[in-house]
Amino acid sequence: MIIILMGAPGSGKGTQSKRLVDHFQIPHLSTGEMLREAKKRGDETGRQIAECIDSGRLVSDDLILHLVEDRLSQPQYQRGCLLDGVPRTTVQAMRLDELFRRHAWTLDHVVALSVPQTELVRRLAARAKVEGRADDTPETIARRMDVYDKQTAPLLEFFRSRGLLREVAAVGSAEDVFQRVLSAVNGQA
Ligand code: ADP
Repeated sequence: MIIILMGAPGSGKGTQSKRLVDHFQIPHLSTGEMLREAKKRGDETGRQIAECIDSGRLVSDDLILHLVEDRLSQPQYQRGCLLDGVPRTTVQAMRLDELFRRHAWTLDHVVALSVPQTELVRRLAARAKVEGRADDTPETIARRMDVYDKQTAPLLEFFRSRGLLREVAAVGSAEDVFQRVLSAVNGQA
C-alpha cells in the first residue's frame, strides 16, 4: 500500500499521518521530519537546508529525490509506505512516478486534506505559540502558503486526472477527520 498525503501547511498532515501508519502498519516517510533531522546535523548541507526551511522556501528537488530514493531503498519500505510532504513540485511528482515504475510499485491513494485558508492561518499561529517551530513566524507562514498554492496545489489536478485523488474535509476533530480519510480510502480501494 502506497499512500501520498497532501495538504497545505497547518492542514494536519502530521496528525493524520500518525493515525494512517498505525492503521495500515506501513512506515512513515516525512520529508519535513527528515529535513529537520538533517538540519540539526549542522554540516554544510544542514546549513543549506536550514536556510530554506527557516525562510519557508522549498529545498531543491535533487536533494529531496536523493533523500527519498535512499529511504525507499531500505527493506522496510518494500511493502509500501505513507509519503508525507512529497511530492511538492511537478518535478518531484514526475520523478517519484518514475521511481515507482522502476520498482513496479503501485500508488494506491493520494489523500488531500482540505482546510479553509482562514482556519489554516489560525492553526499555524496557535501552533507557533506551543511548539515554537522556527518556520512558524508570520512571514514564513505566508511564504509557505504561497509556495503551496503555486507549486504544490497544481499537483492535485494531476492526481485527480489519474483517478487517485481522495479529497477530505480536514476540519473538526482529528478523529472525525481520520474517519473521513478512512472512508475516502476504503471506498475506493
Ligand atoms: P508544512 O507542510 O507544515 O510546511 P513540512 O514539515 O512538510 O511542513 O515541511 C517543512 C519545510 O521543509 C518546508 O517548508 C520546506 O522548506 C521543506 N520541505 C519539506 N518537504 C519538502 C519537499 N518535498 N520539497 C522541498 N522542500 C520540502
